[in-house]
Amino acid sequence: AKKSGRNRFAWFDQSMERDLQTRNDLESGLRLAIPRQEVVPYFEQQIDLATGRLHGFEVLARWEHPTRGTISPELFIPIAEETGMIGDLSLSIMRQALLAARDWDPSLSISINISPWQLRDAWLAQKIIKVLTETGFPANRLEVEITESALFDNLALAQSIVGSLKNQGVQLALDDFGTGYSSLAHLRALPFDRIKIDKSFIMSLNESADSAAIVNAIISLGESLNLPITAEGVEDAEIEARLRALGCAKAQGWHYSKPLSVAGVRRLLAERRLL
Ligand code: C2E
Ligand code: CA
Ligand code: CA
Ligand code: CA
Repeated sequence: AKKSGRNRFAWFDQSMERDLQTRNDLESGLRLAIPRQEVVPYFEQQIDLATGRLHGFEVLARWEHPTRGTISPELFIPIAEETGMIGDLSLSIMRQALLAARDWDPSLSISINISPWQLRDAWLAQKIIKVLTETGFPANRLEVEITESALFDNLALAQSIVGSLKNQGVQLALDDFGTGYSSLAHLRALPFDRIKIDKSFIMSLNESADSAAIVNAIISLGESLNLPITAEGVEDAEIEARLRALGCAKAQGWHYSKPLSVAGVRRLLAERRLL
């Protein structure tokens, strides 16, 4: 028994070592990938449910690794956060996305994701405004999505960053509402312009009465607070129809398409004469 115990440990050690190796590979790879612009923006359509029209896109990072293929942000964003690379990574994604989007139809908005870690950088607003100036993208067509988790460990700084951005006309969305550390008090802490319901509630809308009740409640809350709601994770027409009937303002998800590359967006916009 002792021997097999040791073997089990030996096996465990090896797999832990493999994980560490992968993590170290990813970390050193990411350090090079950011300046080489191997981490690129993809674009998820956001649809106005009342009119069915394309409102704009959420920007999602993808690492196009030369040998490993496309790596998910679920894997590399946490590494970027822990190693302090998240600021450079996000600004690089934002610069690339806005450079592409400035040629698109002026009715289209762009949403970017900001990690709570970036809200510890006292220069964040200035850095974002600099990218807007350099790319010539209008501030009032940019939206910043902030998740609730750890958002408030330095609330005063977060408020000042967000205040500078809103002065320029940048819009603010509360992402992943209903999950994690979410609390209704957060809604008052920062001047949000919209709420995004986390996809876990939307994807289970048809199977779970609880999810339906939660989605209903969030949409009513949005109505009372005058905050339009965006639903993410809309995968079929049935869910889309339910959300429209409930008065949800916008939807995004695989029902419309998987996130698109810059080339993919250009093809879509050319078809719709939005280029
Ligand atoms: P998020 O901001 O909540 O983004 C939504 C995620 O749900 C995206 O995953 C998107 O591809 C996925 N999704 C959208 N519609 C559907 C659907 O209909 N069905 C399903 N199953 N999934 C859907 P992704 O791209 O893997 O991003 C994961 C998370 O990584 C994002 O969650 C965001 O927190 C983070 N992230 C992605 N790009 C960036 C970035 O540029 N900067 C920062 N700071 N975080 C990012
Ligand atoms: Ca988001
Ligand atoms: Ca989200
Ligand atoms: Ca999320």
